[in-house]
Amino acid sequence: MKFKRAVKYGFCAGVRIADKKVKKFARSGGRDGGILGQVVHNERVVSEMAQLGVPTLESMGEIDQGTIVFSAHGVPPSFHREAQAKNLKVLDTTCPFVYDIHDEADAAVATGEHLVFIGRPDHREVIGYTHDRDPSTYHVVLTVEQAKEIDWSRYQGVKILYQTTLNADDYEDVARYIESQVESASRADTICYATKENQDAVRELGADAEVDLILVIGGRQSANTRHLWELGRELKPCYLVHDLDDLDPEWFDEVTTIGITAGASTPDYMIDEVENEVHRLVSARC
Ligand code: SF4
Repeated sequence: MKFKRAVKYGFCAGVRIADKKVKKFARSGGRDGGILGQVVHNERVVSEMAQLGVPTLESMGEIDQGTIVFSAHGVPPSFHREAQAKNLKVLDTTCPFVYDIHDEADAAVATGEHLVFIGRPDHREVIGYTHDRDPSTYHVVLTVEQAKEIDWSRYQGVKILYQTTLNADDYEDVARYIESQVESASRADTICYATKENQDAVRELGADAEVDLILVIGGRQSANTRHLWELGRELKPCYLVHDLDDLDPEWFDEVTTIGITAGASTPDYMIDEVENEVHRLVSARC
C-alpha cells in the first residue's frame, strides 16, 4: 500500500499563520478570552484550541473581558469597534487577502458601484464583507437562478467579488449573466490562489494512472474540503474523511496507491493519522 499526497494540500498560508498566532497566545498564558467562530473550519483544531484554554464563542455577547480572537475569515469592521468599546484586547488573525477584499469593496462603493458578492450569505467571510453595509449597496448570489431574481437595470456599475474559497470557473455563468444585464461591470480577482492550487492538485491526482482512489481529509463544515471531494470523485473513487471512524476497510480492497489531499483548514497531524490508520486497517485485513 502506497500513499501519494497531492502536490498542494492542507493548511493555506492564512490558516497556518492564524493557527500559530492562537497557539502562541494560548501557550503564553492567554486563557482569558475566546475565538469568535471557529478559528478555522475544522472540529479537531477547534477542540485543540479549547484544550489550550481558548474556547470558541458564537457571538461577541459571550465575552466581556480578556482577549477576543478574530478568525482568518475576518469580521465586520463594527466588531472591532465593539471590542474596543468593551475594552477587549483583539488578536486579529484575519487573512490579508480577506482584508484586501474589504478594501476593494469599499473602494467600489466609493465610486458608486453596486457590489455583488458571489458566495454563501451565511459564510463568516461573506458576513464580514456585508454585515455593516447598507443592504441597498450589495447583493450576495451563488447561482444564475438567484441572479435572475434581481432587477439589474437599477445599477449602472457593478463590481463582482468572490468569496475567496470558491472556484471562479464554477461561477463563470453567474458572473457572465450579471455582466450581460448591466451597462458596466468589472470583476475583482478575489479567488485565493491557495484554494486554486489545492484544486488543481486534486485534479492532477485524479489524472494520475497510478492512483486507485483518493481520500479527501477535512472538517465537516469546510466548504473547500467538500469541493476537493467533488472534483476528485469526477476522476477516481473518492471519499471524504472527517475523522478516523469514517474510514471503511472495504474501500481499500485491491487498492495499491491511495491519493491523499486535504482542505485548507486540515492540520498536518490529521493527515498523518489517517495514513497510519489506513495502514492499520489494511494490515488487520491481511
Ligand atoms: S484560503 Fe486563502 S484567503 Fe482564505 S485564509 Fe487561506 S490564504 Fe487566506
